[in-house]
Amino acid sequence: MSPYLDLPPFSAADFAAVEDQVAALLHTTADVIVTQGEALLPLEAAIRSAAHPGSTALNIVTGPYGQTFGGWLRDCGANVVDLAVPFDTAVTAGQVAEALAAHPEVDFVSLVHAEAATGNTNPVAEIAAVVRAHGALLMLDAVASVAAEPLLTDAWGVDLCVIGGQKAMGGPAGVSAVSVSARAWERITANPAAPRRSYLSLLDWKERWTDAGRTVLPHAPAQLEMLALGACLDRIEADGLPAVIARHGAASAAVRAGVRALGTLAPFVPDDAHAAPVATTLRTPAGLDAAALAAELRRLDPTLPVQAGGGALAAGMLRVNHYGPAASPGTVRATLTALATATGTDATSALKAAEAAWEAVGPSFG
Ligand SMILES: *Cc1c(COP(=O)(O)O)cnc(C)c1O
Repeated sequence: MSPYLDLPPFSAADFAAVEDQVAALLHTTADVIVTQGEALLPLEAAIRSAAHPGSTALNIVTGPYGQTFGGWLRDCGANVVDLAVPFDTAVTAGQVAEALAAHPEVDFVSLVHAEAATGNTNPVAEIAAVVRAHGALLMLDAVASVAAEPLLTDAWGVDLCVIGGQKAMGGPAGVSAVSVSARAWERITANPAAPRRSYLSLLDWKERWTDAGRTVLPHAPAQLEMLALGACLDRIEADGLPAVIARHGAASAAVRAGVRALGTLAPFVPDDAHAAPVATTLRTPAGLDAAALAAELRRLDPTLPVQAGGGALAAGMLRVNHYGPAASPGTVRATLTALATATGTDATSALKAAEAAWEAVGPSFG
């Protein structure tokens, strides 16, 4: 084998073509910037570009990422109003409208669409309508929703939409992207605190890449990751985005139905309407440690995409990450079978329930 990374070159035109594919995936005609780092890079870049001393942000906290955003916003000197809801539910447009009415000075709203870590998802269309009426910029973390559920950036009026490739897209973790609306560019350009001559600078990308006609890359392309992202976008186009979304919805419905039939664990997010299609979180009963259960499940089947919840959720929450290639009947079946074995029950009724739930959403469980 050659000791060199033997890959075709990745040109500025290739880079621009991948950005255009991402724009199509996000249903946006806004500028899309592909950022060469994991999704935390464009999330931090978006916040630091838009927030400044004297601005007021409504930070909606429905899981751990909202807490991270609050820290960055405060670090930028913004006044931050946190709207937090329990992690096993969704925030409502009514709650957002109330918070905006109580704080008319809010000019920036940060929201996570789906939360892979806690398994909930938020009604972005309704929330975005409220934010649009108020006039604030809306930043959406769509890392865990893109390709798992509808994401209509322009139709909803999302100003900064951030995605990563490694969840439902089934692609690389080392590149990510953000779409930037004309409204957002106006505000960012007018922000004296927005990063310049920095890896976190969206304005640098705008000036040196987007507005310059996308002919000369400002940095060496992350060739391996960009090839992987391009290949993953090609695959989504070939499968059809609606089919990819249906696979994730079917996996979520099937795992939830199967687990309810098994009876020992319960969906952490009780309301199906608030459940993220990207991953299903499960509450373990008292006395059943989730980290020990995850280890036992992986011992039974090392291919299972299961893990214990993060931080304070480690003891009581099991995560089933049925995204990308794992949004499949095989993963659902294997997970329920192992769960039945580990908890000393029979899988038959759970597999039947999962099949019915899958086929109510997706094509065939076969
Ligand atoms: C996974 C995830 C991220 C983090 O993405 P990285 O690429 O690991 O930085 C951010 N937000 C949400 C909602 C996620 O699920």
